[in-house]
Amino acid sequence: MAKVSKILRDSFGREHNYLRISLTEKCNLRCTYCMPESGVVLSPRSMLMTTEEVIYFATLFVKNGVDKIRLTGGEPLLRKDFGEILTVISKLPVELSLTTNAILVDRYIATFRSCGLKNINVSLDTLNAEKFDAITKRDHFSKAIQNIELLLQEDFNVKLNVVLMKNFNEDEIIDFINYTRDKNITVRFIEFMPFDGNAWDKSKLVGYDEVLNMAKAHYPEPDLVHLPNEKNFTARNFKIEGYQGSFGVISTVTNPFCDVCNRIRLTANGKLKNCLFSNGETDLLTAHRQGESIETIIHQAIQDKKAVRAGMAKEEDFKNMDNHNNRSMITIGG
Ligand code: SAM
Ligand code: SF4
Repeated sequence: MAKVSKILRDSFGREHNYLRISLTEKCNLRCTYCMPESGVVLSPRSMLMTTEEVIYFATLFVKNGVDKIRLTGGEPLLRKDFGEILTVISKLPVELSLTTNAILVDRYIATFRSCGLKNINVSLDTLNAEKFDAITKRDHFSKAIQNIELLLQEDFNVKLNVVLMKNFNEDEIIDFINYTRDKNITVRFIEFMPFDGNAWDKSKLVGYDEVLNMAKAHYPEPDLVHLPNEKNFTARNFKIEGYQGSFGVISTVTNPFCDVCNRIRLTANGKLKNCLFSNGETDLLTAHRQGESIETIIHQAIQDKKAVRAGMAKEEDFKNMDNHNNRSMITIGG
């Protein structure tokens, strides 16, 4: 078992034990809020982490106190060596999870099982096939739904990530909550966040208050139960009395949770991001390839982390598009 030598503590005392590793910049969907209309400039293959490099970094972070790893992307299941990476990382002393759009999930069920992977987040922004095609620019709705059902049948812990956008899917909030009635699933409504090329505008935002008011209007007060916050929570969680599943709201825009943030991100081209909203990045891959000892570099990057949303503390700062000179989400890894 890897020995923990140091803790990744920032200057505000927050300990970073949760690493998200993006395995690829590519995707088989084109969700408009994630992938810019004009596409993204992909890193040359030689600038992406190899299988060995992904494993090397994961192991190094674990030695520095990381005990939770999420594999993400782009679409992580597109990567040919996904099974190999999962197999090795699953042997590290970490709680392992995956974020996927579910399109290729049926091919990997046996691998998930043999690696002990239980926690799977799936992006699904609508329960309507035509709207799915419109938001993802691909017609894989039935496959996504079949694979979500498959994960539930096979007893995985499934969370659905639903990015809410005005005039697109806020009329489905109650449908999604009803989806939790007979399914052991957690639906997480995510506030639409601004990234490069995603045409974000605050008028498109459906915030925490709006979701909650809609839920309160639909379900009488004793039926809508507020669940306790988890440690390092990002979602405020609720359930409807008698329903099998639950739902939550991730309110990064209207109600950030930076004071309990324990997350760091490694992009597919080996850059460390100490905050989702920071346009500053630390190039671990180049340093590693040049033979530098990267532990010091990692600790410095954590020290440099700002208190709130990469320095955009006030809601007005955050909503000013001039402050968003960041990668698109598809190349960060959510
Ligand atoms: N392809 C996988 C998927 O879709 O689940 C993993 C990568 S995707 C970038 C990870 C998460 O980021 C998804 O749940 C997606 O909904 C979220 N995401 C992408 N762009 C976003 C945005 N502008 N605002 C909020 N969430 C976003
Ligand atoms: Fe692909 Fe996921 Fe981004 Fe959609 S949200 S384009 S599925 S990476």
